[in-house]
Amino acid sequence: MFEQLKTLPQDPILGLMKAFREDPRTDKVDLGVGVYRDEAGQTPIMTAVQAAERRLLGTETTKAYIGPAGAEGFNQLIGQLMLGAGHSALSDGRATVVQTPGGCGALRMAAEFLKLCRPDTTVWISTPTWANHIPLLGGAGLTIREYPYLDRTTLSVDFDAMISCLEQADSGDVVLLHGCCHNPSGADLDADQWAAITDLIERKGLLPFIDMAYQGLGEGLEQDAQGVRLMAERLPEVIVASSCSKNFGLYRERTGALMLIAATPAQGKAAASQLLSAIRSHYSMPPSHGAAVVELILDSPELAHQWQTELGAMCDRILDLRAAFSKALAPAGDFSFIERQRGMFSFLGITPQQVQILREEFGIYMLDSSRINIAGLSAATLPCVSEAIREVSG
Ligand code: PMP
Repeated sequence: MFEQLKTLPQDPILGLMKAFREDPRTDKVDLGVGVYRDEAGQTPIMTAVQAAERRLLGTETTKAYIGPAGAEGFNQLIGQLMLGAGHSALSDGRATVVQTPGGCGALRMAAEFLKLCRPDTTVWISTPTWANHIPLLGGAGLTIREYPYLDRTTLSVDFDAMISCLEQADSGDVVLLHGCCHNPSGADLDADQWAAITDLIERKGLLPFIDMAYQGLGEGLEQDAQGVRLMAERLPEVIVASSCSKNFGLYRERTGALMLIAATPAQGKAAASQLLSAIRSHYSMPPSHGAAVVELILDSPELAHQWQTELGAMCDRILDLRAAFSKALAPAGDFSFIERQRGMFSFLGITPQQVQILREEFGIYMLDSSRINIAGLSAATLPCVSEAIREVSG
């Protein structure tokens, strides 16, 4: 059976990580991998997470099965984090939240659920988007179509092109949107654009599917949820996939959630039963640890405050780096978009050849598309990275 299989080429990000590790230069800089880094270049465990883990160790009484929906307490609290505590969809039984193995698990189970709703569902994704959206959604058998999102010359949202393309979508089609911190471009929708896209979705009978992988890392927990909350307020059906990988730093614990909002409580109940059955036939139930930690944090005023303070500092660090970086690059051209963008990523807008020179001559690593992880910069590395970019683009 196996002899007919061909070895697949290496994932470009893993290849880049390997090349970085093997580079002997001590002043090399990694702007490739998508994890948050602090000033020292580390991805530490958040102190609120460490405190919750210590508490958990002392209080956890069983490792018995948890069930396909995961922890009820986590689901309630994460629903409130997404929608705000008093949201009617949470209190009137229209929303279902289930714990999933990371944001990827949420995205894939949403796709499996959509397939159950309608086997020939089409989902529209932004160009560009996070590369893994395509296998996660397409692998479940959904038809994928693309809408233009980024104007490659200004590196800002090409909203007119986006809207006029989505005018072609048919009723029942699904539109995948990034809730905040668009990956890979950092170009987010503003409040007016969220309102306009909500109008279009309502008028055409489309279904919004929002990927919220970075809540709290754009402008703040509340601000970053503005699009999700608007759509949950105005539209009968909404799907949200959320991740605790970045905002709680729980990457390897595989902690995320999927929320379905239905038009009525009865439809919500039917949708939940279908989703739980799909989960059962895929991975049966999610891992417990990460969600138990998040639940302890969100349920304790003291830990929640500690977590929000740490997350706020991470968010501020990214905003400060954005401002300093765009200023330092100004002599090489207009890089002001870096300051306007949000979240961990931006494209520099330089060519693959320039990316290669940065890697080979300066030890600065980024994806060939010129996507950089802003959090990979620090006060110490920013001047020499800026100088190298000025040199290759001059
Ligand atoms: N969506 C987007 C846009 C992402 O960037 C990521 C993580 N890189 C995810 C979802 C999923 O994250 P995870 O499965 O690690 O929680």
